[in-house]
Amino acid sequence: MTTNGGFEPVFCTVVPPHVLDKLARNDDPALSGPAQRTLMRDSELRGRRRVTTEFGLAAAPTAKAPSEQPLRTIYDAEHKTDLPGTKVRAEGTDPGQDATVNRAYSGLGATFELYLKAYQRHSIDGDGLPLDATVHFDENYNNAFWNGEQMVFGDGDGEIFLDFTIPIDVIGHELTHGVTQHTANLTYYGQPGALNESMSDVFGSLIKQYTLGQTAAEADWLIGAGLLAPSVSGKALRSMKEPGSAYDDDVLGKDPQPATMDDYVRTGRDNGGVHINSGIPNHAFFLAATALGGYAWEKAGQIWYDVLTGGELSDRAFFTDFAKLTAAAAKARFGEGGEELQAVEKAWEQVGVQIL
Ligand SMILES: [Zn+2]
Repeated sequence: MTTNGGFEPVFCTVVPPHVLDKLARNDDPALSGPAQRTLMRDSELRGRRRVTTEFGLAAAPTAKAPSEQPLRTIYDAEHKTDLPGTKVRAEGTDPGQDATVNRAYSGLGATFELYLKAYQRHSIDGDGLPLDATVHFDENYNNAFWNGEQMVFGDGDGEIFLDFTIPIDVIGHELTHGVTQHTANLTYYGQPGALNESMSDVFGSLIKQYTLGQTAAEADWLIGAGLLAPSVSGKALRSMKEPGSAYDDDVLGKDPQPATMDDYVRTGRDNGGVHINSGIPNHAFFLAATALGGYAWEKAGQIWYDVLTGGELSDRAFFTDFAKLTAAAAKARFGEGGEELQAVEKAWEQVGVQIL
């Protein structure tokens, strides 16, 4: 069990272990080989992250206000596993020939932009943390992750997964794990873990919506659209609009996410189902945001952000604790009789999370 005692960063990969486990058991070595290799690499990395201890410690106060510009550096691992690799693009330089490098650079920028413009947050730590990313990590590596210090992207095996820099919401998802570590620091197990995952999906999707200028009605509410290879029967890794509908494939199996508490999955796998039951708070956010209409980051996103960063959310919070705080935040920011409070209360009711 991962207990993330407050000082260790969560090692969160975008592809959950239950998906790779299934792939690793496939009869076709072209499919099982990369999955087995990715699982082995992830387990090494999970062990290695324990040496990183600076996360969760309060940052020393800085004399000057953090910059309004991101400070991005992109590195190329050249299909090896040494981090960070060779520096290939610095902040403010023009795009080069490598589309993967350029997508990583843009994705880091889009994440910085949403947090700054919508929530006046300066980078992941709120204090201008430089954003580093390594691309072309390992060979046929079927994952992307934030290791507490930087982003890392694999190229995918090309059979099941494509280049992990393709979906901008995946970049936003991973970086939001950094924001969560610096704020509520939700324990990465069971319901608090599913809330941690859901925060990353919510803000990952908002980063995509903000970048594309989409309203809640226009957004696809998918996580990882464009990541699955054309041969896979599926549209993404997860759907906030219709949890459980993202993929249904011979090789990958079926998307296991529930949309409501009636279908809550009790499991010890996947850290107690963190990537599975996150479907429930994800769907609540979708319902609140679409009921309110307009740009989802302005109202529903603001309420969720207020709870994540407000200091009252326990690192062991259950769905119901989180839901109550969103109602309080809706009231505090938009007023007692507002449509915001109504939309939030109704959304949690629809997914079966007790709020009263
Ligand atoms: Zn995650």
